[in-house]
Amino acid sequence: MKNFPMFLRMDGRRVVLCGGGEEVARKARLILKTEARITLVAEELDAELQGLVASGRADHVTRAGADDFEGAALVFIGTGEDELDAALAAQARRAGAVVNVIDRPELCDAFTPSIVDRDPLVVAIGTEGAAPVLGRAIKTEVETMLSPRLGPFVALAGRLRDAVAEKISPQQRRGFWEWAFSGEAYRAHLAGREREGARLLKEAIAEGRAPDATGHIALVGAGPGARDLLTLRAVQRLQQADVIYYDRLVDPEVLELARRDADRVYVGKEVGSHAWPQEKIDRLIVAEARKGRRVVRLKSGDPSIFGRAEEELSAARAAGIETEIVPGITAASAAAAAIGRPLTERGETDTFVITTGTCRPGDAAPDKVLMARPGTTTAFYMAVDKAEEVQAGLLAGGAPAACPVEIVAAASTARERHVKTVLGDLAACITREGISSPAILMVSYPKSLAGAAGEMSRQFA
Ligand code: SAH
Repeated sequence: MKNFPMFLRMDGRRVVLCGGGEEVARKARLILKTEARITLVAEELDAELQGLVASGRADHVTRAGADDFEGAALVFIGTGEDELDAALAAQARRAGAVVNVIDRPELCDAFTPSIVDRDPLVVAIGTEGAAPVLGRAIKTEVETMLSPRLGPFVALAGRLRDAVAEKISPQQRRGFWEWAFSGEAYRAHLAGREREGARLLKEAIAEGRAPDATGHIALVGAGPGARDLLTLRAVQRLQQADVIYYDRLVDPEVLELARRDADRVYVGKEVGSHAWPQEKIDRLIVAEARKGRRVVRLKSGDPSIFGRAEEELSAARAAGIETEIVPGITAASAAAAAIGRPLTERGETDTFVITTGTCRPGDAAPDKVLMARPGTTTAFYMAVDKAEEVQAGLLAGGAPAACPVEIVAAASTARERHVKTVLGDLAACITREGISSPAILMVSYPKSLAGAAGEMSRQFA
């Protein structure tokens, strides 16, 4: 660690900015977040910096005098003239100031980090100049993880620290703060119900302890695989979870986004054995939530599409447990993105059907006649082993054998595969190409094919 990170006190202090252009204005915007006074040293100031002087937030001198750098907390220099910058840096350093010359690391005593600002919570990221682009990418990632509403809640907690110290015994204090930054008050605040959040927090302080935890079950969409296809809300729920039950198709990358000390329980199929029975999952998630824990049921894609969500929701409802669905990107959307094609196309396909190739034993298969209509694109889930049935059903329903079919396996993951064929060749193609699950079979019957149907069908059938 060549550079040591520190947070500097800025109240009642002074920062000197040398230069009058955009570069310096950018630093001024940062300093304005603090309570420091600003001295601008420049022959001329741009409109923004002039405004700063006019508003009384900054003083302006055209030339740095002997004592302008004296006692300054920081000096930023960016006049646009290399020699002047170096001379000012030397002068400032003689006065004992900590100097940053913009874009001249060799002349800097200190560097400004990438900042995620949830004042009073601040995250600073630095790479010692080794990888500024990576630093900014990490900043973006942290930005997405921290709600924009977090700052005011942290500030409120700060104002309540004395009250907590007075009302809550030292043994209970840690537990109280853990609750404060994860429990109902916190959730209410982050959901935009700030007043409720503050009320709950103050009630708990008056009671002298955090309320008993109330459990919660969130059915969270993990998306098709790539971790950057999770929603921000899904990431937040993973960060808040005490325990996560996840499926076979949930990518390990996605689990990395979970809170480190959350319990993770795999409920999918192990090689050579069976998946957990649904009733066992229902029972467990309810039992965990009853203990007051925050349960995330992480499901591939969108939890409400072929995710057996209803069983889990009704089990939770029956037990009086609060539930939430966090939608996700379903496999069909990811498959369309993978092949760079839309799911609907004006004038050609105006109906989009999501259906399955596999049903509960004994249930009738979905009616293919509905999907064998001109203008329809159908995404078949769980259909790799049922391709023959799908093909025969659609052809029997009247779809031409020339209907374009896109097969996308493991969409959005490193194992993604894409094969293009036509309906008349679907089953043979899957065998020939060795396509395995998970895959989406996307069959389109564009309107323009309706006229040519009879003739083409004969050709491919
Ligand atoms: N809830 C999920 C679907 C679960 S059913 C969703 O909304 O996507 C499981 C089926 O989803 C698989 O048989 C396959 O058809 C499809 N599937 C899931 N992930 C997929 C992926 N990455 N690529 C292609 N198909 C996928």
